[in-house]
Amino acid sequence: MAKLHLITFGCQMNEYDSERVAGLLAERRQYELTEHESDADLILLNTCAIREKAEEKVFSKLGQLRALKRVRPELLIGVMGCMAPLRKEAIQQRAPVVDLVFGSAAIARVDELVDRVTRERRPVLEIGEAPLVKLTARPAGASTLKAFVTVMEGCEKFCTFCVVPTTRGRERSHPPDTVLAEIRALARGGCREVTLLGQTVNAYGRDLTPPTDLAALLEQVNEVPGIERIRFVTSNPYNLTSRLIRALRDVPKACEALHLPLQSGSDRVLARMNRGYTRARYLELIAELKETVPEIALSTDLIVGFPGETEADFEATVDVVRRVQYDSLFAFRYSRRPGTPAAEMPDQVPDEVKAQRNTRILQVAGEVAALRSRALEGREVEILIDGVSRKAAGELSGRTRCNRVVNIDGRGRIGVGELAPVRITQALPHSLRGILVEEALHVA
Ligand code: SAM
Repeated sequence: MAKLHLITFGCQMNEYDSERVAGLLAERRQYELTEHESDADLILLNTCAIREKAEEKVFSKLGQLRALKRVRPELLIGVMGCMAPLRKEAIQQRAPVVDLVFGSAAIARVDELVDRVTRERRPVLEIGEAPLVKLTARPAGASTLKAFVTVMEGCEKFCTFCVVPTTRGRERSHPPDTVLAEIRALARGGCREVTLLGQTVNAYGRDLTPPTDLAALLEQVNEVPGIERIRFVTSNPYNLTSRLIRALRDVPKACEALHLPLQSGSDRVLARMNRGYTRARYLELIAELKETVPEIALSTDLIVGFPGETEADFEATVDVVRRVQYDSLFAFRYSRRPGTPAAEMPDQVPDEVKAQRNTRILQVAGEVAALRSRALEGREVEILIDGVSRKAAGELSGRTRCNRVVNIDGRGRIGVGELAPVRITQALPHSLRGILVEEALHVA
């Protein structure tokens, strides 16, 4: 049996795509997944192009693989995902070791592409657009408890910093029937939590005939027996509707958590980013969310050092972080991406300034998150047990509906895949400790 080694960089959508590729190659060409590059016949790198650092990791990995290929010239090496359309020339020039380059649109034909490169023994490049296909193949051993489900592909927001419209094409939604069929099959296989994926997931359904929306999809997924929790990422403030906010309150299985990228708290920067909302509008949405779903856990993405960002602009972002009180956030140093308008803006911010702002925003985010965590001490929450500790016997870990990690001693009383009521006993920097509620009653 031929062996496939897959290395995935980047976002959840890449993780989802990697599973599809492994599933397709297993179904159609009997490839078996291996954890070791040394015994693979085919190594695929599923890449991310969102920041330069992500690309550099891929080039450095390709450099290491050159040595392996020297020893085993029959080894095939492929690069898939977001770097394929954007950096095809650079890949060919800097990494001639690569046999196959293909974009997300060609995933459905990965088996044919692998055949072609095996047969022709010369580099194959496949980066054109293709009709949207719903792929549901999964490799043996894929997690059964939780799953990602792509509900739409692409993005047409054209934020001035972002390569996604180029790497993933325009917005296209999968019809509800195909999404639901995939989720029903996952539920039959033991899945209890789904995360619906889209680059702008809350724009779901506008392009379908008849049009629909994410709120309607949440209601439909809610009816799937076996599924206990529904999450979705990533939402764009521009498309956030009161209807979706109410769905977060009214759809029982929809978790009270929302990732809502702010990017910047300064109107001047938001306009230059082409985000389509103002600071006031964002804060209005947050107020509506908190009023409608008081338990909501909010998280966000921020970019520091966007071209032209002044100290005052940056402080405006810090101020929003304090006001919103995010549970968690990702802060990125602005990275110049080829072909994007922001890369050409004249007033680029020096790296040291980006680094200082990044450190400062993470410090503020840490303070805010610690306050949020401490507020959970003594509270009763439901967790879905998703792991067993390798280090301590009886130690289990799970996540709250707000996506917080909670560790408990569940020895013999509860198992992976079960929902459990726990009382939070201690907030630690990156996780919470809790006890099963029956025990909490004994202790009290
Ligand atoms: N589509 C989502 C949105 O814009 O709301 C987010 C998708 S993007 C894959 C994830 C995050 O990467 C963005 O929210 C942004 O903070 C960050 N990002 C995108 N382009 C970037 C760049 N050129 N430099 C630094 N960070 C960037």
